Amino acid sequence: MMNSMTNPIAASSRAIVIGISMAGLLAARVLLDHFAEVVLIERDDVSDPLQSRPGVPQSQHVHVLLTQGQRLLEQLFPGLAAELTAAGAPTVEWTADWLMLGVWKWMPRCASGLSGRTCSRTLLEGLIRKRLLASPHLTLLTGCQVEGLLSSPESDRVTGVKLHGRKTANSIESLDAVLVVDASGRNSTLPDWLASMGYDAPPETVVNAFLGYGSRWYQRPKDLEADWQGITISAVEGITSRGGVLYPIEGDRWIVTLGGVGRDYPPTDEAGFLEFARSLRVPILYDLLKDAQPLSPIYSYRRTENCWRHYERLQRFPDGVVAIGDAVCVFNPVYGQGMTTAALGAMMLDRCLKQSQSPKGFPLRFHQQLARILNTPWLMATGEDNRWSTTEGAKPGWSDRWVQQYLDRVTVLMQDSPTLLKTFAEVVHLVKPPTVLFAPNILLRVLASYGKRTPTEIETTEIGLQTSTGSTVQR
Ligand SMILES: Cc1cc2nc3c(=O)[nH]c(=O)nc-3n(C[C@H](O)[C@H](O)[C@H](O)COP(=O)(O)OP(=O)(O)OC[C@H]3O[C@@H](n4cnc5c(N)ncnc54)[C@H](O)[C@@H]3O)c2cc1C
Repeated sequence: MMNSMTNPIAASSRAIVIGISMAGLLAARVLLDHFAEVVLIERDDVSDPLQSRPGVPQSQHVHVLLTQGQRLLEQLFPGLAAELTAAGAPTVEWTADWLMLGVWKWMPRCASGLSGRTCSRTLLEGLIRKRLLASPHLTLLTGCQVEGLLSSPESDRVTGVKLHGRKTANSIESLDAVLVVDASGRNSTLPDWLASMGYDAPPETVVNAFLGYGSRWYQRPKDLEADWQGITISAVEGITSRGGVLYPIEGDRWIVTLGGVGRDYPPTDEAGFLEFARSLRVPILYDLLKDAQPLSPIYSYRRTENCWRHYERLQRFPDGVVAIGDAVCVFNPVYGQGMTTAALGAMMLDRCLKQSQSPKGFPLRFHQQLARILNTPWLMATGEDNRWSTTEGAKPGWSDRWVQQYLDRVTVLMQDSPTLLKTFAEVVHLVKPPTVLFAPNILLRVLASYGKRTPTEIETTEIGLQTSTGSTVQR
């Protein structure tokens, strides 16, 4: 795995990664190509690969790996998709195997090549961790928390971390490294650590749609006959703040996540949860769930605001430390972008390490490059969230509002156009840039649609799905 030891950044040969969730694991994978030793530090116990853990509460909820993310993970861990399949993860083609309710009717189902594995977050993380731990150059320290950074006497360079609780509950020890990667997620305290070294905190942009999740795991009914694998009923501004996803995972199970925007949070009691499912634009999830066997309690999650810490805008930054993943930019999870952008960030770290001539100024150079790749998913997530009058935080400019109106047209048009749906899905899955939606052929169709009447009611045709009780599910 190590091939660029001549890189001056790798001179003293140890890198430390704080946090072994998705961003930390993927960063560690690329660091192994540049450093003699990579030390991963995690405060949770991760000895049971199938157990959800406190540091990753999101594993109880639907976790979509976008097609771009799937491709990048396969590049970093060849054979991972096959391993997921062997572990029982279904293979889905997102535009063909999924029932998606558009604004006014069900989306066409069509081949697009946008495929992926659907699985629990725990399975995905566990398989990646196992692969990494096979490397003799990687050390994993669990059950210990990073409490702060070590720095040079001039405070111009981070030289390692202070660890809490490795030997005894109260012990503090130091670990040196030439590069520290903060992958400690949304609650990262890197800004405080930098402040204690005399640096400014990064400016933050926050956009909060006050979305809440409620999720429950179910056994897929054995006698269910269906030509689909999953279902998405989105919330639509002006119609309903409520949406839901039925997501197939390994072990013939479903995770069902219901969500409400603007503090319309799904209840966590059984009757309330089902009633919320019934209140969606069509009651298909309710019809499927009311007789399905639940396998879990109903989990709730409400910290869903988008938050970007703009390290790239700082004028001064010490050498020897970078942040990655949610520690830099966290998205409203409903768009499924977090793991894929973590993978894009790891790829960018790899590229910057390969290109870097000197460790001096490396962190700022990396953060400036990282900001470029964060821009698209950020605009997509916050643009959608800002449709809601209840959303708080940074407001879109007139050009963003114009783009949203344009995209409204696209989403209505694609209800009758598989080719447009495919292009749109490629953008959502971060495979293509949003500019493809402004290609002349699409632009002309959008312009021609202005002035045309938009429907006012959802078309609900029967699709004759048989649930375990024999009732027909509305489509
Ligand atoms: C409800 C929900 C649903 C989501 N759904 C999706 C989805 O569908 N698709 C998608 O791509 N993404 C989704 N995401 C986002 C995705 O989970 C994250 O973007 C992704 O895991 C990357 O996060 P991370 O590794 O940067 O941080 P985190 O996942 O937050 O992990 C941080 C890790 O650092 C550890 N840690 C923290 N502080 C310390 C410390 N001081 N010392 C040692 N260890 C520490 C924590 O224990 C944890 O293991 C969702 C998120 C949420 C909350």
